Amino acid sequence: MKTAIVGKIIPLVPTMPEEFDGYVIVEENQIIDVGIGQPDGYFDKVVDGPKQVVIPGLTNTHTHAAMSMFRGVADDLQLQAWLEKEIFPREDKLTDEIVYWATKLAIAELLLGGVTCFADMYFFMDEVAKAVSETGIRACLSKGLVSFSGEKEIEVGRAFCQKWQGQGKGRIHTMLGPHAIYTCPPAYMEKVIRVASDRHIPIHMHVSETKKEVSDCISKNGGTPVAVLNKLGAFEVPFIAAHCVHLEDEDMEIMAKKGVVPSLNVSSNFKLASGMPRVEAMEKAGLKMTIGTDGPASNNDLNMFEEMRWTSFCAKVTGNPQSVPAYRALEMATKNGAHAMGWKNLGIIAPGQIADIVILDYSSPRLNPVYSCLSHVIYAGDPSDVMHVMVDGEFVVWNRKITTFDVQETIEKVNEFAKDFA
Ligand SMILES: [Zn+2]
Repeated sequence: MKTAIVGKIIPLVPTMPEEFDGYVIVEENQIIDVGIGQPDGYFDKVVDGPKQVVIPGLTNTHTHAAMSMFRGVADDLQLQAWLEKEIFPREDKLTDEIVYWATKLAIAELLLGGVTCFADMYFFMDEVAKAVSETGIRACLSKGLVSFSGEKEIEVGRAFCQKWQGQGKGRIHTMLGPHAIYTCPPAYMEKVIRVASDRHIPIHMHVSETKKEVSDCISKNGGTPVAVLNKLGAFEVPFIAAHCVHLEDEDMEIMAKKGVVPSLNVSSNFKLASGMPRVEAMEKAGLKMTIGTDGPASNNDLNMFEEMRWTSFCAKVTGNPQSVPAYRALEMATKNGAHAMGWKNLGIIAPGQIADIVILDYSSPRLNPVYSCLSHVIYAGDPSDVMHVMVDGEFVVWNRKITTFDVQETIEKVNEFAKDFA
C-alpha cells in the first residue's frame, strides 16, 4: 500500500524549509519520500485537498487517560484536596471494565485532536494496553506505583512492562510509573530504581508539581525531589518528569546533565493552582522539554493545541516574546515527545521515519488569512482543525471520524458508568 499525501508540509527537519507546498509518500508504516511540488508515480491512495496542512502526529507525554471518567466531577480545588477528597475515593470504585471504556473515550478525544501517541500512568493497565492495541493509537504505558500498595506492586509493574513492551504491532512501549516522591518515599524508590536499572526500563513520574511537594521533600529527605531522585540513581535510566513546576536552578542543571525529560502540563497546573513552570529558564538550561495534558479530570480536556499555546505563552510571559516560538513548541509536542517515549525514528516528516501524520484543514474562518501555516498551528489551532490522522501508516481518523472503533458506543458506556460516580 503506497499513499501520497499532498499539501503544505511542516516537516520539522532543520535542513528543509519550515513549510512548503509538497508531498509525503507513505509505504506500509514508513515515510519513504518527502518533496516539494507534486508527487510522481503510481499510488494506491492520494490524499489531496485545497487547504491541507501536514504535520507530524502530536505526542502527549503525560496523562491518565481513564480519568476521563471523572471529567468535571470536582473542580476548583487544590491538588491535595482534589486528589484525597474527590479522586482517590472514586478511584477505589473503578473496575477493569470501566478503565477500558474510559480509556477508549480518551483515545477518541486524543485521536480526533491529532494526538497519535500518549504516555499514560494509571492502573488496570492491561485494559489500557488492550484499548491501545484495538484502537490503533500509539502509547507508552506505565502502571502507577505507590508505596502504600506494597512492594509486590513493583513486580506487577515490571511484569506489565515485560508483557506489553513492543506489543500492538510495536505501537506499545512501557515504563515503570512511581507516582511521586510523596507517595513513593526514598526507601521504596530505591527498589523501583533497582528494577528499572536491572531491566533497563525507563521511568515516568510526577516531579515537583507543587510547592508543598518540594518543601515536604526538603524537610523529610534533605533535598528537592530532583536532588533526592538523582542521589538515588533514578536518572540513570531514561526518565520522564511530569509537571516540573517548582524547579530550582540546580534541579535544572542536574536534569540537563542526566537527560531527564520534563513533560510540561501547564493548564492542569493553572487549574489546580499549582503554579507556573519556568519554561524560559528550562529552555536556557538546555532541557529537552515535551508537552502533556495531565489527566482529563484536572485539565479538563486532552487538547494538545491548547497545551502547545499555553507552554509557549508561559515561556514568553516573563518578558521575552521570542522564547519558545511556534517551531519550538511544535517540536516539543512531536519529536521531543516521541523520542522521550522511546521512538527515536518518529516525530518529524522525513524519509525513514514511522508514518504518524496529522492532516489539518485550514478552511475555518479562524485560520484565515494564512501568512504562516506554522503560526496558526500553535497560536490559532484547535482539535476541530484535524481532518485525517495516520498512525503507523494507517488512517485511524478519516474526515474527522474514527475508523477503528465505535465512538458512540464508547460515549454511551461511559455515561452509564458515570451514574455511579456523581
Ligand atoms: Zn499526572
